[in-house]
Amino acid sequence: MPRLVMKFGGTSVATIERIRNVAAHVAREVSAGYEVAVVVSAMSGKTNELVGWVREADGGYDAAEYDAVVASGEQVTSGLLAVALRRVGIPARSWQGWQVPILTSDAHGSARIEDIDGARLDAGFRRGEVAVIAGFQGIHDETGRITTLGRGGSDTSAVAVAAAIGAERCDIYTDVDGVYTTDPRVVPKARRMERVTFEEMLEMASLGAKVLQVRSVELAMVHRVPTTVRSSFDPPDAARPGTLICDEDSDVEQQIITGIAFARDEAQITLRRVKDSPGVAAAIFGPLADANINVDMIIQTVSGDQSTTDMTFTVPAADYDRARTVLDRARETIGYAQIEGATDVVKVSAIGVGMRSHAGVAAKAFRALADKGINIRAITTSEIKFSVLIDAAYTELAVRTLHSLYGLDRV
Ligand code: ADP
Ligand code: ASP
Ligand code: MG
Repeated sequence: MPRLVMKFGGTSVATIERIRNVAAHVAREVSAGYEVAVVVSAMSGKTNELVGWVREADGGYDAAEYDAVVASGEQVTSGLLAVALRRVGIPARSWQGWQVPILTSDAHGSARIEDIDGARLDAGFRRGEVAVIAGFQGIHDETGRITTLGRGGSDTSAVAVAAAIGAERCDIYTDVDGVYTTDPRVVPKARRMERVTFEEMLEMASLGAKVLQVRSVELAMVHRVPTTVRSSFDPPDAARPGTLICDEDSDVEQQIITGIAFARDEAQITLRRVKDSPGVAAAIFGPLADANINVDMIIQTVSGDQSTTDMTFTVPAADYDRARTVLDRARETIGYAQIEGATDVVKVSAIGVGMRSHAGVAAKAFRALADKGINIRAITTSEIKFSVLIDAAYTELAVRTLHSLYGLDRV
C-alpha cells in the first residue's frame, strides 16, 4: 500500500475539537488507501510555556533536562490524537521519538536526526494501525537521553519519517493554506504559490519564513520527498492541495523574484576605526568563530579619518551579548577605537532563481527603499537572493515595498 506522512502544527491541534478535526483529515487518507504516519506538534503555546518554566526554574539550566521538559508537549498530542482516531474506529497508537526510535545527535535543544529505524513502524502498518508520532523529539543512542530538534522541529521529524518509511508524499498541515510570496500576516496582498522549488524554499526558510523549519527543507531536497504545505482548516471532505515544493524542472512559475522573507533574529555590531592592515579580519572573526558565533553579513568601509576602517557585521541576536564580551576581550589584538551595536534591526531578503540570469535586480530594491527613506545598514547578495539590514521599525514598509516592486502583489 502507498504510504503518506501527515504533519499537524500547534494551532491545528490546539484544542480537543481541533484534534477531532485532524482525525477526520487522517480518516480521509486512510479511506483513500494509504498507510498513514501522522506527526504532531505540541498544542499551540505549550512549548513556549514549557521553555518558560525551565528558564524560571534555573537560568543556567541543564540542556538534557530542558529537552526532557519541552519534549513533553508532543507526547500529550500524540496520545490525544490516537484516542481521537480510535474513537472514530481507526486503529492507531502513539509513538514517542525514543520508541520508534528516531536517533539523533547529542546536541540538546538543536539535535539533528541521524537515523530512523522504520522496522517497528512497519510492523504497526502490518497490524493496520495509523502511527501517531510525537514530532520535535528523538533520542541520543549512547546516552539514552531524550533530545529535541530546535523550534519548529516537527516539520523535520515529518520529512525524516517520510524518507524513512518511503512515503509517497509529506503533507505539512498548518494554519495557512500554502507557501505565500511573503508572510500573509504581514502583507495581505501576498499570493499563494502553486509550486516552489526546493532551493527557493530553502532560502525562504533560512531567511526567516518560519512556515517550514530549514532542516526539513534540506531533508526534503536531499531525499527528494515531495512535500506540500496545506491548511488543516479546510473541511476534511474538501481539502485543497496547497503548495507543492519540488524540483526546478517541474512546472514552476517563472518569476525573477519568488518571495520576500524577513528575520528579526540578527544583531549588528560595528567596530570603529580599526587599523587597516593585513590580518585584521582574522583578528576579529577568529575569536568569534572560536566562540561558535556565526557571523552573517559583513561590510567594511573607510573611516571618517581615511586611514582606518569601520567593520560592520551581524551575529545571531541570541549571541549578541557573548559577541560583545569576546570583542571586548580581543580589543588589544584587534585595535579598534570604539564598538557600537544594535539589536532593533531586521534582515529583509528577496529570493528567486531568476536572479541568476538577470542583472540589476538588487539595485532596483536599493533605490526603492531609499525613496521610502529607509536607510540600509548592510547588504549581502548571493546567486539567488539578496538581503538588506534595516531598522526594525521599517520591517512592514520594506517588505511591502519590495513585494510590490517585484510584481508579487495579488491583484
Ligand atoms: P505550525 O504551528 O503549523 O508549525 P508555524 O507558525 O510554524 O505553524 O508556521 C505557519 C506560519 O508561518 C503562518 O501562520 C505564517 O504567518 C508564517 N509564514 C511566514 N512566512 C510565510 C510564507 N512565505 N508563506 C506562508 N506562511 C508564512
Ligand atoms: N512544538 C515545537 C515548537 O513549538 C515544535 C514544532 O511545533 O514544530 O517549536
Ligand atoms: Mg512550525
